Amino acid sequence: MGLSFFNTLTRQVEPFTPREPGRVSLYTCGPTVYNYAHIGNFRAYVFEDLLQRHLEFRGYHVTRVMNLTDVDDKTIRGCRAAGVPLAEFTQPFKRAFFEDLDTLRIQRARHFPEATAANHIERMIAMITTLIERGHAYRADDGSVYFRIASFPAYGRLAHLNLDELRPGARVASDEYDKESLGDFALWKAWTEADGAVAWDSPWGRGRPGWHIECSAMATGILGPQIDIHCGGEDNIFPHHEAEIAQSECVTGLDFVRLWMHCKHLLVDNQKMSKSAGNFFTLRDLIDKGWTGREVRFVLLSVKYREPLNFTFDGLAAARSALARFDEWSRRLDDHLALHPAQPLDPSQRSTINDQLDLSAFGAALDDDLNISAALGALFEVIRDTNKRLDAGTLTAAEVRALADWRDQINAVLQFQPETVAIPAEVEALAAARAAARAAKNFAESDRLRDALAALGWTVKDTKDGQKLTPA
Ligand code: AMP
Ligand code: ZN
Repeated sequence: MGLSFFNTLTRQVEPFTPREPGRVSLYTCGPTVYNYAHIGNFRAYVFEDLLQRHLEFRGYHVTRVMNLTDVDDKTIRGCRAAGVPLAEFTQPFKRAFFEDLDTLRIQRARHFPEATAANHIERMIAMITTLIERGHAYRADDGSVYFRIASFPAYGRLAHLNLDELRPGARVASDEYDKESLGDFALWKAWTEADGAVAWDSPWGRGRPGWHIECSAMATGILGPQIDIHCGGEDNIFPHHEAEIAQSECVTGLDFVRLWMHCKHLLVDNQKMSKSAGNFFTLRDLIDKGWTGREVRFVLLSVKYREPLNFTFDGLAAARSALARFDEWSRRLDDHLALHPAQPLDPSQRSTINDQLDLSAFGAALDDDLNISAALGALFEVIRDTNKRLDAGTLTAAEVRALADWRDQINAVLQFQPETVAIPAEVEALAAARAAARAAKNFAESDRLRDALAALGWTVKDTKDGQKLTPA
């Protein structure tokens, strides 16, 4: 069975077929850099990371773009309040965003276009010019340009809105609006006092782009007129993605996106986590409380993207213990391999063992619309079974080899491997002295050195293969 995903446009799980065999273009709406991203935003980015990594695991070559919205209503409000130029205001949030991606082990996109880059602004202006020429857009008295939704009969299809019933009003100027205030949306916003120094010249006078045209221009500019997969959080469906479809298709004349995928919101006390509601945690908040990026990743990943995920500290604690179980099992596989080395497996041997140990259930679950709950269920089932067999000593060296290889493949997708911590030279030296003291049966000295290591935050364990150091 191949891959299949739920398409927001058709409301169906469909077999996945990219336009070009083996290659996938993926556009993911990125952060608005007016603040630190909250972990709700990161639920969307972790879901997209799982999607990309699973596609790569299945052999696809993925070209992913994630934009940075560095000019919109919110960033302008922020820079005005801070009294600094826009670029200066957004810069620290851009930097923080990349640090957070690394903390959460999210693979970097190929391109991170910024809306304010000259080439993208030029493309936005060119697209708006075409839309006006074709009658899809018009200039209002104040110099703003609006998209005429009545000129695009498919408007509302993604969000499944019936325009006749909704009776669209005249116009909406703000980037975000609800279905009730549906109307022609802004492509270009004429400069007003509130914009301060933020403005570009255009054929319609000074102003700035609307949020939606930014994504249409960056997506088609980098990935071409037709894209395989476009993702975001469910709040992006309307109006943002609806508007992206209208703008892009009226310019290119082609179907913009094959597959629309949206993740459900991260909730806190069953409410959407959002900056405006004030009920949010940033990743930094959680790291400061002593949680790791790996644990937060586990929580954000562990519920299927189309199901709501309620964030709790109990959930983080459960992630910590699940990862400890994974680590312990993983360590046992490595210890076993060190004692009973196995030759690399040939394909038929591997496939027999994979069948016997039921290792393909994990990937099959992800093939099925990224069913991560089933995939994790399958993983922990294997951990339970093979731990028992490790206790009983009934796993062969070849089976342990197959399990370790499978674990590495899973880690390429899930990124559950423990942090690699560099051992400081001072700690290495104390550990070497302790090993020498033990060899000389000087146990008083060896105990003293163990305490010295503990004082530096390192635990030393004596095993069959010698002493092992782990950060306490
Ligand atoms: P923004 O910075 O508000 O443009 O949001 C960036 C991304 O995060 C978009 O894809 C949003 O749909 C997504 N997002 C925002 N809030 C949440 C949430 N509570 N849960 C999941 N995704 C969210
Ligand atoms: Zn977007």
